[in-house]
Amino acid sequence: MSATEIDFYEVLGVSRDADGAAIKSAYRKLAMKHHPDRNPGCKDSENTFKAISVAYDCLKDPQKRAAYDQYGHAAFQNGGGPGGAHGNADFGDIGDIFETIFGSAFGGGGGRARPRRGADLRYDMEIGLEEAFHGKSSEIEIEVSKACDTCHGSGAQPGTHARTCNLCGGQGNVRAKQGFFVVERPCPNCHGAGEVITSPCRDCRGEGRVDVPQKLEVDIPPGVDTGTRIRLSGKGEAGPRGAPAGDLYIFVHVKPHEIFQREGTTLATRVPISFTMAALGGSIEIPGLDGEELTLEIPAGIQSGKQLRQRGAGMPVLQGRGRGDMVVEIAVETPTKLTKEQRAVLEQFRDLETGDECPQSQGFFEKIRTAFGG
Ligand SMILES: [Zn+2]
Ligand SMILES: [Zn+2]
Repeated sequence: MSATEIDFYEVLGVSRDADGAAIKSAYRKLAMKHHPDRNPGCKDSENTFKAISVAYDCLKDPQKRAAYDQYGHAAFQNGGGPGGAHGNADFGDIGDIFETIFGSAFGGGGGRARPRRGADLRYDMEIGLEEAFHGKSSEIEIEVSKACDTCHGSGAQPGTHARTCNLCGGQGNVRAKQGFFVVERPCPNCHGAGEVITSPCRDCRGEGRVDVPQKLEVDIPPGVDTGTRIRLSGKGEAGPRGAPAGDLYIFVHVKPHEIFQREGTTLATRVPISFTMAALGGSIEIPGLDGEELTLEIPAGIQSGKQLRQRGAGMPVLQGRGRGDMVVEIAVETPTKLTKEQRAVLEQFRDLETGDECPQSQGFFEKIRTAFGG
């Protein structure tokens, strides 16, 4: 820990194994002493007061305290530790406060170089609708860069150590004058790491990471859809020189199905039925994705385009309970090949038509007659 990083425990004057009560009491005493109301106009007290508030805010929360114990201040800076790009927002807020208070109040130049988190990885997985329905456990193989075993991720040949970069003094960035402005940019000597490796590890050539094919068991939960991302925390690339690993994201793509179209949790399909079934009624069987045959009652007199909704026969709700619906659209099929006998029977039927059996057609032709004064 460099001089510009003020330890939260030191700020509160407690030991690293102090319990919650001890931390709280230390904070109260200090807060009382340095409260701005008691020290009007005193900048030092104000800064100290802010510092103890930030330190207490971190240490009173067991989760944040654990992150701090593990990663130090990097836990609350962007890209570091569990508060990284995908971490929870609480850490981000503290990061900002940390920057303004610890960066300025204690005269530091922004602290040490931040340990960069490893990159997130993407893996595209194509699955069938049945698999999306049931969920599945699948083994995938990806090339992941992992911390090098030989140097334990440091990048330095065992027995040697990285030394502080003398160009940037370990800051990781350098200041340069550009016209009227002073700009900060990554140090060209250490590329922002703040350290230079003099004898690079031979196995990873100083990277601290090696690429290895890795087999991973991935659980695809029931109900996933195209666009679902499954995050495997810490399964991405190892960070450079021992920094935390990134995450692995499984991007799910569900292949089109021969029978069902899917819209969220709704499964839709179009079922052709014969004109006799449409007229007389009956029942049809549809193979459901759960392997059960679904029996659908067709009421007599059904029309083409009518949608029958079957509650709870659709896709499972992702990470929830229950299932969506199945919507079956009926398409009445007009026969195209008739035997002589069938034709004769139909002609007989036609002769028996009164017009009342098809009110829609009758109504339509009546409208035409009135419109054209027939
Ligand atoms: Zn190595
Ligand atoms: Zn440097």
